[in-house]
Amino acid sequence: MGYRLAGRKAKEEKTVIRVGNTVVGGDHLTIIAGPCAVENRDRYIQAASQLKKMGVQMLRGGAFKPRTSPYAFQGLAVEGLEILAEAKRVTGLPIVTEVMDTRDVDKVAGFADVLQIGSRNMQNFILLKEVGRVNKPVLLKRGLSATIEEWLMAAEYIMAEGNSQIIMCERGIRTFETHTRNTLDISAVPAIKHLSHLPVIVDPSHAAGKWGMVAPLAKASIAAGADGLLIEVHPCPEEALCDGGQSLTPGNFAELMEEIIPVAEAVGRKCHDKVKLLVKKSVI
Ligand code: PEP
Ligand code: MN
Repeated sequence: MGYRLAGRKAKEEKTVIRVGNTVVGGDHLTIIAGPCAVENRDRYIQAASQLKKMGVQMLRGGAFKPRTSPYAFQGLAVEGLEILAEAKRVTGLPIVTEVMDTRDVDKVAGFADVLQIGSRNMQNFILLKEVGRVNKPVLLKRGLSATIEEWLMAAEYIMAEGNSQIIMCERGIRTFETHTRNTLDISAVPAIKHLSHLPVIVDPSHAAGKWGMVAPLAKASIAAGADGLLIEVHPCPEEALCDGGQSLTPGNFAELMEEIIPVAEAVGRKCHDKVKLLVKKSVI
């Protein structure tokens, strides 16, 4: 069948996606950061303001959380979306948040600048079609055990409905290895670049499952040609309601932002001036 819309043959030039004042897939790296979930107002606004100072381009945070256990924190739902809206007002940064249910697509799209399709929903074809009908960029995570072909076909589902603003996101796949939460498939980055015109970013947090491995995986992703990173940052990871073990503190994140500059430059990518300036002044 081939990739009729997502494939390289469909479009020669790279797809560059505009989100608010920034673009994904251009010369500059896109850094998206924030806690796994929106947990409470004060904590989220505090984290968002810190991240803004560190020069991130977008904020993340789940209001609807796909948890393995039905007894685990499921997210604040609409209250979480309202907190995200406040964070956007305070920082001016666009919001990336997950939509899990077709019934919530319009509601979430009313708050989000980018609709995230989580790993577990990558082959929820009805949901893919639904976000395909919305005029908002979609961050499409790779399924837990999805091949590159299945992942690109999921993008095709969205595009076939008319929405071609798709950011592919590699977040690790399930393998026999248990040391890490998932195995980061770095080869997915050049593979998507080879097969498709769509931008591809990497989420090293869900791949590693361990905060100490996030920085090296993030740097490897940039070196491999990723257009950006999605990173979990929490003001106090040990108190996080989900994914605390893989969350960076704001301090760790600031260090990472500094470390990625030479890696990005070595492969011809630019970092936003604000990041460089902050690092130079050691404000962070
Ligand atoms: C997330 O980004 O919060 C998330 C749940 O990730 P994934 O779908 O990749 O597991
Ligand atoms: Mn998470």
